[in-house]
Amino acid sequence: MSAAPGRPKQVRTPPRSSEDTSAPGAGASIAIVSPTVIAEQVVESILAQKLAPGERLGEQALATHFGVSRTMVREALMQLQARGFVEVQSKRGWFVVEPSVEEARDAFSARRIVESGILNHAGKPLQKVIRRLREHIADEQRAIDGADAATRAFLLADFHVCLAEQMGHRLLSDMLRDLTARTTLAATLFQSKHEATQSCAEHGEIVAALEAGNNALARTLMLRHIGNVEEALEVDQANAQPDASARLRTSLAPVARPRAAR
Ligand SMILES: [Zn+2]
Repeated sequence: MSAAPGRPKQVRTPPRSSEDTSAPGAGASIAIVSPTVIAEQVVESILAQKLAPGERLGEQALATHFGVSRTMVREALMQLQARGFVEVQSKRGWFVVEPSVEEARDAFSARRIVESGILNHAGKPLQKVIRRLREHIADEQRAIDGADAATRAFLLADFHVCLAEQMGHRLLSDMLRDLTARTTLAATLFQSKHEATQSCAEHGEIVAALEAGNNALARTLMLRHIGNVEEALEVDQANAQPDASARLRTSLAPVARPRAAR
């Protein structure tokens, strides 16, 4: 039953502009909704900590929200199930997974291997790469200064995906998005106290080391950063609050992105 449709090839973000609409006479700025677009929106909401572990994903509520059939929603949910983000419980429906402590540790250790590997194999990054990463960090800082917690959470997680992408690793950046979404679920579940300001500062140190051509230092800083995030999880008081399905609508609203770039 898990013959999930192939992973989306290039789905950095769901299409948002009217130019993406190929339906004749569509006119307005309506993006084409596909199972992949729905799945990516769910992952984005997990990264933004708007969808919590254990949250119910009602098929009908999703179908209404996206204006699509339940069949299409089910296809999206099956993609997400294959990626390990949702599970189906008989007679109860679909839920965002609640990672166990072991699963959380496993995701963090996978991130350490992938992210240190990327830095290990990188040459000195081009100036435009450094510029893009600095822009990302400036966006993080603005989100920290502002009041939008979802954008802040999303951007802090997205830094790692952006870094992989900027280093030219498309496959690994897709993989990292999933791994980061997993560690984000753990952080939401285990109430991470890791300060956004500290994360942002650590991102800045990593980029400074890369700019100085000191990849070994960048790698050390990255490992320390991931370790800091992991250590901040309060693993002994896992108390996921059962959220009302009414939260779903706001949870799935797209995250405000500071730049349309990429
Ligand atoms: Zn980070």
